[in-house]
Amino acid sequence: MIKLKENWDKVLNIMEKQVTAITFDLWVKALVPYTVYEDKIILFTNSVSAKNQCEKNFKPLLKLALDEVFKDEYSGFKIITEDEKNLYTVQEESEENLDEQVPSENIKENRINLNPKYTFNNFVVGKSNQFVYAAARSVAENPSAKFNPLFIYGGVGLGKTHLLHAIGNYIAKNFPNKRIIYVTCEQFANDYIDAIRSGVKENAISSFREKYRNVDVLLMDDIQFISKKTETQENFFHTFNDLYQANKQIVLASDRPPKDIETLSDRLRSRFASGLIQDIQSPDFETRVAILIKKAQIENYNVESEVIDYLAENFDTNVRELEGYLSKVVFHANLLGHHFAGLEDAYMALKDIEKEDKENLDIEKIIKICCEYFNVSREDLISKKKNKEIVVPRQICMFIITEFLDTPLVAIGDYFGGRDHTTVMHARDKITRNLKTDDKLKNQIFDLKDKIKGNIIRRV
Ligand code: ADP
Ligand code: MG
Repeated sequence: MIKLKENWDKVLNIMEKQVTAITFDLWVKALVPYTVYEDKIILFTNSVSAKNQCEKNFKPLLKLALDEVFKDEYSGFKIITEDEKNLYTVQEESEENLDEQVPSENIKENRINLNPKYTFNNFVVGKSNQFVYAAARSVAENPSAKFNPLFIYGGVGLGKTHLLHAIGNYIAKNFPNKRIIYVTCEQFANDYIDAIRSGVKENAISSFREKYRNVDVLLMDDIQFISKKTETQENFFHTFNDLYQANKQIVLASDRPPKDIETLSDRLRSRFASGLIQDIQSPDFETRVAILIKKAQIENYNVESEVIDYLAENFDTNVRELEGYLSKVVFHANLLGHHFAGLEDAYMALKDIEKEDKENLDIEKIIKICCEYFNVSREDLISKKKNKEIVVPRQICMFIITEFLDTPLVAIGDYFGGRDHTTVMHARDKITRNLKTDDKLKNQIFDLKDKIKGNIIRRV
């Protein structure tokens, strides 16, 4: 008999060549072999959409792939979801993801603040983060060996916190006796302050020490906040040294490299530099697609692949935002009763985002952008000066304000040195008229709108 689970990869390999990458990642990979029942292969998925999609679109392909691998040993297959699971018994234990399961009760106290949600398994690796991933993985597999301390830095929402927890979760699973602590710099400082303030001073301070210096792995996040707190720095320095000298693993994350943490003492800076300092970049297009697909799978979202592409194309900086937009689109679709989130839902949801961001846009911001663009001072722009170099930018600025905001003309007039609303109206109408014939003006307005949009919504 050809074993089902052992040969499932072969089925996947065949399918991968038959369908698009997104379809494969989103739907086919969501299937796992579950058992055999009355001569039929039972495949399980926890995604109803994966079941529907596979049944609707890939049944013949799946059948062919199964026949090829299992040489017609089974008469067919059936895809089940959670509801039907108890109707079938499992043949053998699945070994999926065993290396990163949630710890059992008795060793839980060895890990403080770890979030089991963030693992290496659900971290998508691409060009932007392959080195930092490799370093994190190496630290997790061999703590206190090569990279100590490991210092990870990069912009907001790029996965630093995720990696710290992933290291912690991995070590927790594979080295159950190691004590691991995840803490933000802020928490660390607060803990220390609490310890000092606490009535029974001696005890509090020694239990603080106990907490931080008896660990095997210290994962400290947002270390940039150490900058202005000299006492925290001093204390952290001692904690760091104690751990380092006892050959304990230290991993630090920051939004900037050590050299840019302004008030970091030189001795800490050189301690950090003694290990590995590794940056994490914004993900490229393919990685963004892969991250969105993973997220859709984890959250069981029903999304068309066009939506994934659309989001990955249009939002290119921050993974947290990218994920936020995906859930927003799905939420939007659900509200409208759409079973699958499609492109229309994405457009609508994005419009909402634009609207929300527009609420943060005000006259001042537009004036600022216009001043920068035309290289005139704010004072001149809102003054009564009548020279052409000022008048034209002023009129354009008024026009743009009326385009972006619903501010009443009277209020706009007020802003521009208490002018009458008819002046604003005149500016608006004149620019509207000239736009039809004046190409230079057209370009200027185009550029300005682009800058303002760039300010409120990051579109590529
Ligand atoms: P940071 O600490 O760098 O600000 P986080 O680690 O909090 O960012 O990441 C923000 C969100 O993006 C989290 O939900 C995280 O799981 C997700 N994320 C970031 N990078 C990846 C990645 N490469 N693969 C999967 N999810 C990611
Ligand atoms: Mg973070």
